[in-house]
Amino acid sequence: MIAEIVAIGTELLMGQILDTDAQYLSRRLQSLGISVYYHQAVGDNPERMRDTLALALSRSDVVITTGGLGPTQDDISKEMAAQLLGLEMKFDEDSWQAIRSYFDRLGRSCPENNKRQAMFAEGAVILPNHCGTAPGCLIEKDGKMVVQLPGPPHEMAEMFDKQVYPRLAEMTGGCIASRYIRIYGLGESQVAQMCAKWIESDGEVTVAPYCSLGECQLRVTARGGSEHEALEKVYPVVREIEALLGENVYAVLDTPSGSMEEAAGRELTAKGLTVATAESCTGGLVAARLVNYPGISSALGEAHVTYANEAKIKYCGVKPETLEAYGAVSEQTAREMAQGLRENSGADIVLATTGIAGPGGGTKEKPVGLVYVACADKNGVRVEKLQLSGSRERIRNLSALRALDMIRRAAINA
Ligand code: AMP
Ligand code: MG
Repeated sequence: MIAEIVAIGTELLMGQILDTDAQYLSRRLQSLGISVYYHQAVGDNPERMRDTLALALSRSDVVITTGGLGPTQDDISKEMAAQLLGLEMKFDEDSWQAIRSYFDRLGRSCPENNKRQAMFAEGAVILPNHCGTAPGCLIEKDGKMVVQLPGPPHEMAEMFDKQVYPRLAEMTGGCIASRYIRIYGLGESQVAQMCAKWIESDGEVTVAPYCSLGECQLRVTARGGSEHEALEKVYPVVREIEALLGENVYAVLDTPSGSMEEAAGRELTAKGLTVATAESCTGGLVAARLVNYPGISSALGEAHVTYANEAKIKYCGVKPETLEAYGAVSEQTAREMAQGLRENSGADIVLATTGIAGPGGGTKEKPVGLVYVACADKNGVRVEKLQLSGSRERIRNLSALRALDMIRRAAINA
């Protein structure tokens, strides 16, 4: 079964918003073993929308549209699909009552315009909207299925998961399950080389590498009659890869999102360790990301942004002579920041950053992107020198990622 997603809305084409609906739906369809061959995006224009839908219907079995179900004149997704399928639009009294009572609950009066949201192609299965006003619909004709969902991501996801996913699962009778192995500390080609045996295998478990900012992940996928059956094939391979890559694996997740701060937060709290930070070039990013982890309060006692030399002296006990002799961006200063704050705070693990995030401020000896990340614990202080490139934002984010990884590894080895 081949599916296609058509995102509708001029705001998508103007770059105002990103098509996250297609991303969500693609992941969900993948888990059903339904292949998504195409994504399209089209504005709120009748001719182009019709052409787009016609193309989608000519090559895909299931076409899912998002957006354009609102009450205004430019919300025409349902009309266009009906026209193309040669179906009349019909008014649905139940949907109209549901829309009116939605407004009642909000204590607002329902505009007549919203009546358009209660119009559907004849024979359509109406999908009530439990989070908003726009109902969706599902039309089956000539062996094809058109599913029309609202644009707002939370409405779309709720409607799809509750009312569409179960129907599709019944039709496909199977499921694909994936786990994502998140890796930090090894490059993509290194990972690909080490895992070639699995990546190149054409067995029933597929392993695919994928790289994002500063890290690498492997997707391990298998098909089965149920999710459980598929995962029984996935996990043995995941365990073998984990054993091979060791500490470089920081998480195994069921979605490709998820983060280093979770891994660090988990290790810290599981071991009852405390952490403190002194950040210069990352300006609090490391602390902010740690705070993303719910439950970090038992580990994180204090976090300093020690941007100026005076602050490095005052809060971390960095020696003025060190700053004088080696400069703020130096291995020596990073070391003293971590060591000094460890003494002052009494935390088990202390992380410090100092670097040149750019775009200005670089010299021949100390170019933009030079960053020192130091981690102090009971075993001493480790300082890592990074030479990063790219924008200020990229340099700061990559530095924070490395810092979180150092905290994670220090906690594992504490
Ligand atoms: P609509 O259903 O076309 O009125 O869309 C309402 C709102 O939903 C838009 O203004 C966006 O904020 C959001 N939205 C629509 N389409 C998408 C999409 N493909 N991905 C993410 N958000 C969307
Ligand atoms: Mg719209």
